Amino acid sequence: MTEKKIQKINGVRGMNDLLPADAAQWTHLEHVLRDLTRAYGYEFLRTPIVEATAVFQRGIGEVTDIVEKEMYSFEDRLNGEQLTLRPEGTAALVRSVIENNLLYEGPKRLWYTGPMFRHERPQRGRYRQFHQFGIEALGFAGPDIDAEIILMGQRLWDELGLKGVRLEMNSLGQADERAQHRAALVTYFEQNASQLDEDSERRLLINPLRILDSKNPAMQELIEGAPKLLDFLGEESLAHFNAVQDLLKANNIPCKINPRLVRGLDYYNLTVFEWVTEELGAQGTIAGGGRYDPLIERMGGKAAPACGWAMGMERVLELMKVSKSLPEAAPLCDVFVLHQGGETLTAGMIIAERLRSAGIDTVLFCPPDGHSASFKSQMKKADASGAAYAVIIGLDELVKNEAQLKDLRGTGEQRAVPLEGVLEAVIDALVGSSE
Ligand code: ATP
Ligand code: MG
Repeated sequence: MTEKKIQKINGVRGMNDLLPADAAQWTHLEHVLRDLTRAYGYEFLRTPIVEATAVFQRGIGEVTDIVEKEMYSFEDRLNGEQLTLRPEGTAALVRSVIENNLLYEGPKRLWYTGPMFRHERPQRGRYRQFHQFGIEALGFAGPDIDAEIILMGQRLWDELGLKGVRLEMNSLGQADERAQHRAALVTYFEQNASQLDEDSERRLLINPLRILDSKNPAMQELIEGAPKLLDFLGEESLAHFNAVQDLLKANNIPCKINPRLVRGLDYYNLTVFEWVTEELGAQGTIAGGGRYDPLIERMGGKAAPACGWAMGMERVLELMKVSKSLPEAAPLCDVFVLHQGGETLTAGMIIAERLRSAGIDTVLFCPPDGHSASFKSQMKKADASGAAYAVIIGLDELVKNEAQLKDLRGTGEQRAVPLEGVLEAVIDALVGSSE
């Protein structure tokens, strides 16, 4: 009989597994993010990964890279609903805030994290499933909150030990100011129509501001010479922008005004900003955000101002790697328990449970063949685990109601302790070695 080789199945391109070797780095980042949100009084909100497609069409805007070409949208086979895997967090969060009437009692400071999905060309720092952390401050109109969320970002980079992260900022003003700027832009691009690429020709008709967002090198000179939105801002918009800058200055946060910064999403007004680095090649934006006062009303809620930012976690971890600021991998456990199967296994399992109840991380050796393994091979595993101590329960020890306690990282000393006293001996040893 010929045996047919079973084909393995691979993961989806651009969607990565998080392997155990990298898990500690993610956990570290997640802890820092949790502490950061607590430090500023932000509350956690989680939305589902799947939303009605309309949430993103309305919340992100039809003429955006995301909605035009990056969304994983599908029809639910069972009821025909149009659904989309979320490509970003803000639109879904706003949907939830409106649906659950969260602004009823006043403004809210919120944060979220989780996987996002965009059908892009996978490359370093650009994946089809990636993870974002984001904060949103809803119901606050003043420049103070713009400054606060930027301070949070700066504190985060400092906390993570990231070097060379630059803050770039711009103001998109209000709708009427953008309309005047837009008219001037259209005139300018029409006068130079022969230099427009295909994407820009299309955008000229629907959303000429987005031409400024073009990454096409051939378009850069033309874009450089275009009328600048900052020159069209009225008194109020300018006052808001200046106030944000003054607050940042008072907190020693350097920032560079970049008049070309327009951001990919449609819903921004006034302050927009990005944090960029030169260390990650083409994917140099680690986080971005701004004010999006029109969004809540546009999504069907009672009008309320809002601002926030989102960060790409893969890019930040990559930058931590480059900045050499990743923490060392923690040991797997404090104690490793070795045994010879049978009664010694039973005793070992009871002791391991007792240690865990006392808060001591413990791995009990499990023989791969289901029977037993030599102490030599078990000791190799114990060493590799990074445990500080090994508890060894051999048949000879068990007869005497004893176990051996071995120091794995310090002196290597090994001594007999009564089975009933293993927990106390381990605690003494751990406390002693940490002094
Ligand atoms: P880019 O210009 O790099 O495509 P973007 O403007 O589309 O970014 P946002 O929608 O503002 O990105 O998302 C916020 C952050 O999420 C980005 O600054 C980046 O760090 C991260 N990010 C966006 N898309 C991806 C992706 N495909 N893979 C990994 N990280 C991403
Ligand atoms: Mg993008």
